[in-house]
Amino acid sequence: MIPFSLPLIDEDVITEVNDCLTNTGWLTSGPKVVALEQELRVRYGLPAVCVNSWTSGAMLMLRWFGVGPGNEVIVPAYTYAATALCALNIGARVVMVDVQDDFTMDPVALAQAITPHTKAVIPVDLGGWPCDYDALHAVLESEEVRRRFVPTHVRQEQLGRPLLLVDAAHSIGATYGGRANVHGGDVAVFSFHSVKNVTTGEGGAVVLNLPKPFDLEEEYRFLKHFSLNGQTKSAFEKNQVGGWRYDIVAQGLKVNMPDICAAIGLAQLRKYESELLPERKRLFERYQEAFGKCDWAILPPGKDAVRESSYHLFLLRIAGYGEQERDALIRKMAKAGIGTNVHYIPMPMLTLFKELGYRIEDYPNAFRLYENEISLPIYNGLKDDQVDFVCENLISFI
Ligand SMILES: *Cc1c(COP(=O)(O)O)cnc(C)c1O
Repeated sequence: MIPFSLPLIDEDVITEVNDCLTNTGWLTSGPKVVALEQELRVRYGLPAVCVNSWTSGAMLMLRWFGVGPGNEVIVPAYTYAATALCALNIGARVVMVDVQDDFTMDPVALAQAITPHTKAVIPVDLGGWPCDYDALHAVLESEEVRRRFVPTHVRQEQLGRPLLLVDAAHSIGATYGGRANVHGGDVAVFSFHSVKNVTTGEGGAVVLNLPKPFDLEEEYRFLKHFSLNGQTKSAFEKNQVGGWRYDIVAQGLKVNMPDICAAIGLAQLRKYESELLPERKRLFERYQEAFGKCDWAILPPGKDAVRESSYHLFLLRIAGYGEQERDALIRKMAKAGIGTNVHYIPMPMLTLFKELGYRIEDYPNAFRLYENEISLPIYNGLKDDQVDFVCENLISFI
């Protein structure tokens, strides 16, 4: 049996979690969260706020930007539903746009979808492959968009255009123009869900890359409170002798990350660039090489002159296949003991979004990518002979 995905639970993770249980004795936000945020800050030179999921981190940042009912948030049709739900959950309207052949948001479609109600755009680094940040930025920075932007919140006035919030749920470690992908938007949100490249069980992090006049340290301090019910002290700080008094300074959310979760991520992140990411890349390239000789294989992008993926998913497409053939292939792979997946069923094909009036016919490229896509196992701990077994089976079935 080769499962589609498995979280990495090794000696380092066990040691770090044990430290939490037996030494610090602290379970919710405390020293491990501080250490995890510090790990991120050292990497990127930017402040990062740990939260309890990507979804809650994105909701937090939309609320921070004053987005709510009557506003529009633009997302790609081809993504996991959370990209849209974070906006729906705060009462905003979701506007979907189609994607390009590399699975990422089409900047031309974005330009056409922007209205005076648009407050935020959430492109997705799908499978770990960075979006075309320069093109997306150019759209948002255009004079036309700036002129039509109607600020209804002090932070919207400061930015003067819609917020570029990158869904980096898949893409920790990806690069764009030789720099970490977190420099691509105003805000990048990572997911540390159990199936992602780095996990805390459940969790996420918001990395702040806001342009001037924002003061990143001030916004970081505010978001630490804002992610904790707007409370000025964490339980850890209140628990220090004499530290009882606190204030509630804003109507925040309760989305802080527990230390017990941060400990798992800390052990993984410390060796992410040195061990875990190179190993993923190696597996990705092993797949690329095996399918490179097959004329029916449409390979996912991994690296070009500008971008490098975090190799989160191996999104193989089979030329000429439709939904039926692809689904049959998945069943055959399952019979052979191989777990596969599809990333993604475009949102307009899901019941909730159909009921809200979205139609897949409006997103032809999303459907074209979906109908012949099959995601293959790729994770730390997967062995070379398992990759070979996956390839041999898949090639023989086709
Ligand atoms: C996993 C995922 C999310 C949601 O992450 P959570 O941490 O589970 O909230 C959002 N967007 C994409 C593209 C994802 O794959």
